[in-house]
Amino acid sequence: MMVIRTALGFTGGRLDRADHLRRDEAAMRMARLHPAARFLVLDQLKPLLAPDGDALLWVRRSDAPDGTTVFLGLDDAGAPHFAVDGPAHGLEGVATDARAAGARLPGAEAAIVAQARSLLDWHRRHRFCANCGAPTSMAKAGWSRSCGACGAEHFPRVDPVVIMLAERDGMVLVGRQKGFPPGFYSALAGFVEAGESLEEAVARELWEEAGIRVGGVRYVASQPWPFPSSLMLGAVAHADGFALRLDETEIEAARWADRDEVAAVLRGAGPWSAPPPLAIAHTLLRCFVDG
Ligand SMILES: [Zn+2]
Repeated sequence: MMVIRTALGFTGGRLDRADHLRRDEAAMRMARLHPAARFLVLDQLKPLLAPDGDALLWVRRSDAPDGTTVFLGLDDAGAPHFAVDGPAHGLEGVATDARAAGARLPGAEAAIVAQARSLLDWHRRHRFCANCGAPTSMAKAGWSRSCGACGAEHFPRVDPVVIMLAERDGMVLVGRQKGFPPGFYSALAGFVEAGESLEEAVARELWEEAGIRVGGVRYVASQPWPFPSSLMLGAVAHADGFALRLDETEIEAARWADRDEVAAVLRGAGPWSAPPPLAIAHTLLRCFVDG
């Protein structure tokens, strides 16, 4: 049994998403005009951080640029918070790559980055109806788009991805894709396909990419990965054997690593490098080391 002792990247958000308000247009107009309302600007999907880089930069409505504006939720004091897709001109914040922001910010703020980036990116890419092709318009304060031509309603996508460690006799399997930096290995991963359970997707991906059969697939934890809208479902599985048959279009190299080797890697002193704590692959490896 894997025990999670570390925080998962992009999780821990504290805003109340207040779904009941999203459908209430009058309430949302009031919320935007509320004197305590705050806006997070994403310039080309890069969130603005305060100049010292350790916190999100929230601005007042009068300072926010024009652009697609979505409702994120209410803070503990009831202040409405929004995200805006627009230029950062004239603001003192620093537009920061969302991965870098996620790594630097406290969990609750990184979670807001994930929420805002995924949602604004979805609006950018879903301007037309998938049913009839007509232009759609934003509805429910950003949590849907509706088609005036055919009446279809479209909801923000979340794409499930399985990411997993195969285990056998105290060893786990890690692999590297061609595009990875030299020496970098991670847990294998792949999109869940239509008509598949999480467990089936894990078994299929490990068979396709590494040629190993697994059983006893166990879900461990999940985290959002807003590039653009993945939900990473972390799992472990018991491998039937060590022999690998790599799909070289997907996996350039793979290796079995024992607990001492993975522990050294996570200390930055191993024979390969692993994803940073922001990524759930790191969490899976950490859980393996911690037993
Ligand atoms: Zn339509």
